[in-house]
Amino acid sequence: MFPVSSLRIIRSSRRVLYSSTVMTNRLPVPKAVTCSVHCVCTSFYKKDIWDFRALDKEMRLFNYTKKAISSRSCYSSQVKLNCWNCNHFLDKTPSFFCNSCNIIQPPEEGTSFFKIMDCDYKFTLDTHKLQTRYLQLQRSLHPDNFSQKSVKEQEFSESQSALVNKAYKTLLKPLTRGLYMLELEGMRLEEGTDSGADSDFLMELMEINEALDEAQTPEQANKIGKDTKGKLADLTEQIDAALRKGELHTAKALLTKMKYHANIEEKVKEKLSEFM
Ligand SMILES: [Zn+2]
Repeated sequence: MFPVSSLRIIRSSRRVLYSSTVMTNRLPVPKAVTCSVHCVCTSFYKKDIWDFRALDKEMRLFNYTKKAISSRSCYSSQVKLNCWNCNHFLDKTPSFFCNSCNIIQPPEEGTSFFKIMDCDYKFTLDTHKLQTRYLQLQRSLHPDNFSQKSVKEQEFSESQSALVNKAYKTLLKPLTRGLYMLELEGMRLEEGTDSGADSDFLMELMEINEALDEAQTPEQANKIGKDTKGKLADLTEQIDAALRKGELHTAKALLTKMKYHANIEEKVKEKLSEFM
């Protein structure tokens, strides 16, 4: 576990040019995580660790970035930092390592997941580039690389690595990516409600769910899966258009629909596993 208090003490040695607003908010320090979480490729979707509600709670904490940065270009934290070890100016945001002494740096407040993953701030981001960036970062930040380093460096490695995992997971799937973008714009979907979904849509979903429950063959389940994929692709295009135009309420309603169809997609996978 990486105590918040220790981070504050460490960070106080850095020349941080924050506004008073930002100084009252601190980046949530990710819990120390097991290697199975760092090795996302094999066990990334372990819900016991990366519970969506926990993610949502963490995402809410990122709202403060809007106070410091433009929401549309929520891409730069507009802060100037120095290396905690040698005090050399860190000219990039985020700087995972000092380019003078090459020591790992702690996570920087107010840096969006898009910036961490070096992706353009848009809904239809390049997931291949995202994955390449993820693997590149984890190669250098993974705690295994720091077992012989100081305790402080080990802690920074764990927190940076966990943060990169979270950024990757959030941006990888359209649904969580869209929700995160709405978060950055100051909106969020209410949990456990049918917000944005009309009765016709809910009726349609009920029928799809019934058809899936009654599916007797893999072909029948696959047909529902294929239809759902098509609907998700359509929704992706519509959400992208809405976000580009700044129509946040439209994007929110479409994301609600996406949430339901993504849920059906998961149920189709479960159903197909029953036939195996
Ligand atoms: Zn340095």
